[in-house]
Amino acid sequence: MSFNIVYDCGEWKQSKHAQSVVSTAFSKEEDIDVLFISHFDWDHVSTISTLISSTKSIRTVVLPLLTKKEKNLLINFNRVLSLGILELIDDPKSFFGPTTNFIYVRSDSDRDYTEEDNEGIDLQDFSQSNSNSITINSGTPLEIGNASKWFFVPYNHKDTERKKELLEALQIRGFNINRLENDSNYTLCKSTDRNTRKELRSIYDSLSGKINENSMLLYSGPSNIRSRDCILISEFVGDELDCTYSSSYKAGCIYTGDCDSNKVQLGSVYSRFIDYIGVIQIPHHGSKYDFNIDVFKAFDSLICPVSYGTKNTHEHPAAEVINTLSLNHFRPILINEQLNSIFRQRICCFEIKRNKNLSKV
Ligand SMILES: [Zn+2]
Repeated sequence: MSFNIVYDCGEWKQSKHAQSVVSTAFSKEEDIDVLFISHFDWDHVSTISTLISSTKSIRTVVLPLLTKKEKNLLINFNRVLSLGILELIDDPKSFFGPTTNFIYVRSDSDRDYTEEDNEGIDLQDFSQSNSNSITINSGTPLEIGNASKWFFVPYNHKDTERKKELLEALQIRGFNINRLENDSNYTLCKSTDRNTRKELRSIYDSLSGKINENSMLLYSGPSNIRSRDCILISEFVGDELDCTYSSSYKAGCIYTGDCDSNKVQLGSVYSRFIDYIGVIQIPHHGSKYDFNIDVFKAFDSLICPVSYGTKNTHEHPAAEVINTLSLNHFRPILINEQLNSIFRQRICCFEIKRNKNLSKV
């Protein structure tokens, strides 16, 4: 069985390389079974339209549930920034077309969110219909049929501190926050003024794109190794510059988007899977402001991909992040838009026989 998943799909500014990486990653005959969107920043969603045009279909999209206010604020910002992702934020159904289904994930600070009510959803059953749309809690497992040993667990973390920084910056420059949050047409009339546009742009840049409070984490990994008497080991093949190597780590992975590891305890969010995790993507492209080594120390032995654009102006990834990871015996891997920058994980499942020998299945 093959099952294609994509977590975020974007580029730093406009990059020819990124377009060709996306357009050649899958064939025109292939479906993307599930696309996960961590949040609506340009560098995480800008090449989704290329993904749509270079594949057969996108069956299911899993994305953070936004409140009306969050949506309006993003719409007002993105209109002024002239970033072509307005339709994706405003009306995902019309952006993706009638054959795509949607799973919206409540944030962990949502009033309707309760940790108990997290019954699993089978992605294959769900994608049988068209234009299906449901809302789930953070932490709900998304399965691939009954027999699969692999599943996905999205967790929409909301960083309320982030909002404070943004509101402060807007207030100082005299923006009407109430209208930015409640009137999606606010900047339509205001943006004719060049200075206003410039001001909003500089606020966006000063917060290094973090105008989204949400960043949806994702666990992608074994569902329950022990009950099946089976352990999973992955071998990694990294083609980074001229260096190729192969080694074994646990197969489970956490994708982190632009979350701040000072604010979200990955080890507690995914405590159930802590023994299965061997890969954690370094949050926010390796920014030193969102990095906390103590969070990673909750895990055993880790390989840590860091994704970034080579031309970014935020000095991502920070040298001190890479050094700290290495000094703590974790293995950072730098991934960018260059075609030779590839990180592959091959997963082998071993059954534990009675005589304790491992046999590959
Ligand atoms: Zn980003």
